[in-house]
Amino acid sequence: MSARIIDGNAIGKAIREELRSEVADLAARGVTPGLTVVIVGEDPASQVYVRMKGKAASELGMKSDTVRLPATTSEADLLALIDRLNADRAVHGILVQMPLPKPLRGEVVIDRVDPRKDVDGFHPVNVGKLVIGDRTGFRPCTPAGVLELLMRSDADPWGRHAVIVGRSMIVGRPVANMLMQKVRGGNATVTVCHTGTPAGDMPRFTRQADILVVAAGAPEVIGGDMVKPGAVVIDVGVNRVEDPACEKGYRLVGDVKFAEASEVAAAITPVPGGVGPMTIAMLMKNTVQAARQAAA
Ligand code: NAP
Repeated sequence: MSARIIDGNAIGKAIREELRSEVADLAARGVTPGLTVVIVGEDPASQVYVRMKGKAASELGMKSDTVRLPATTSEADLLALIDRLNADRAVHGILVQMPLPKPLRGEVVIDRVDPRKDVDGFHPVNVGKLVIGDRTGFRPCTPAGVLELLMRSDADPWGRHAVIVGRSMIVGRPVANMLMQKVRGGNATVTVCHTGTPAGDMPRFTRQADILVVAAGAPEVIGGDMVKPGAVVIDVGVNRVEDPACEKGYRLVGDVKFAEASEVAAAITPVPGGVGPMTIAMLMKNTVQAARQAAA
């Protein structure tokens, strides 16, 4: 069997197109959704992500600002900037690119962002809203993207068994929470595996998955023999592995052995081009939601 490819680029683009009309509706009411991205330091990967986020926002007709600060910025100065952005009515969404250079504390900075502008969905208020199923909160972008990929590729989790590998606050835990809720896009039976799961038991769990979401950050840790025939596999992992044959000296792989798993699964996301593009699409969606809620 050769699995159907779940194309995150195409699905992400479709979501951005849908947002275009929402942005136009808001514009007709005199509201331009505004996203401000704050980046501290020179981390090259973060610089790329920030550029992509700004470009996506501008292309949708949103107001997009990027504040670049040196790695030497003090926590007090960064918090003062957050306070100014919190008070700025033209700013609907604030995203502080993580990780922050040491000794800045990510959790302190996230806590300072007004939860109504926390389009990353990491503020404790939004984490709580996610858990209790309050949709006025912002769902973290990558997990929300995983759910959209499922719903838009004929893989409704309702009544299925979803197994998630990974329990981080950024991916695994929110995905598990969303999938277990008794709402559209959820109502799955959810199993979560992590490093406390004995390695020898992992295949026993993963092979039960109708939907297998892997967010371990461990290159190709899930082989084809760990996938149930006919499963839908969402590979969140993005890992660099050395490869002298590649121009850059490395290539990107997921947490799943793609070629093997494709022979067993019914549908699978590639890396890159699967979950990655969804993260930015969902950030745009959250920013539009923030603007809509602020204008209500
Ligand atoms: P993380 O914070 O390192 O968490 C990894 C989780 O997986 C932890 O819960 C860990 O267990 C578990 N784990 C690690 N190795 C395992 C193994 N061999 N077996 C079972 N469980 C294992 O990583 P993350 O932030 O969730 O990210 C996960 C991956 O997704 C990374 O590759 C990251 O680059 C990628 N990612 C992609 C996007 C995107 O937009 N495409 C966004 C975010 C993340 P413990 O809790 O026990 O340590």
